[in-house]
Amino acid sequence: MRLLLIEDDPMIGAGVQRALRDDGYTVDWVRDGIAAELAITDHAYEMVLLDLGLPRRDGITLLQRLRAAGRTMPVLVMTARDTVADRVRGLDAGADDYLVKPFDLDELGARIRALLRRQRGTATPLITLGALQLDPATHQVTLDGTPVRLSGREFALLRALLETPGKPLSRTQLEERIYGWDDDVESNAVEVHIHALRRKLGPHWIRNLRGVGYFVPAQA
Ligand code: CA
Repeated sequence: MRLLLIEDDPMIGAGVQRALRDDGYTVDWVRDGIAAELAITDHAYEMVLLDLGLPRRDGITLLQRLRAAGRTMPVLVMTARDTVADRVRGLDAGADDYLVKPFDLDELGARIRALLRRQRGTATPLITLGALQLDPATHQVTLDGTPVRLSGREFALLRALLETPGKPLSRTQLEERIYGWDDDVESNAVEVHIHALRRKLGPHWIRNLRGVGYFVPAQA
């Protein structure tokens, strides 16, 4: 799950990035509106966390431009501008949710999970495939009710696959989901994580379509 954090305040940016990484998200961080637009053009982000007071291009303008360009990913606005008029303006510009600074990192995490659920079109927080169940809030994976211990990357990989059952994701698409800019990616990293997941879950959960990618079966 790859998120773009747009925030020019170094303390807040570092704090949010660290907290979300601890939650298993891949988080790229940019500090101004122009860099944000370039990043969004280059990468498929599943969500954007947007500060409004930004150098070079302010958050509202950026948001309007993204929506005008047909980008539909959820956008959560984080800002110190807390008048009703500011909030209305942000939501009308295409924001999906709004958090006023200073905010609690636990609340930010919960709102992100809620937006991602809505994006998937489901109100239930658990992702289930047959006997396999993944809880994005607690990072717990169970198989037939028994907890399975996964590393952060294994969890992110499994989550990406479970969100699109039956649809293969290429190695590049999976790398995009589980690694950010700051991460060194070994050339066989995805295969290593897939191998570990198969060892922990059993071989039949993750299938390979030769030359195309990996997927979980649509029905287990
Ligand atoms: Ca700012």
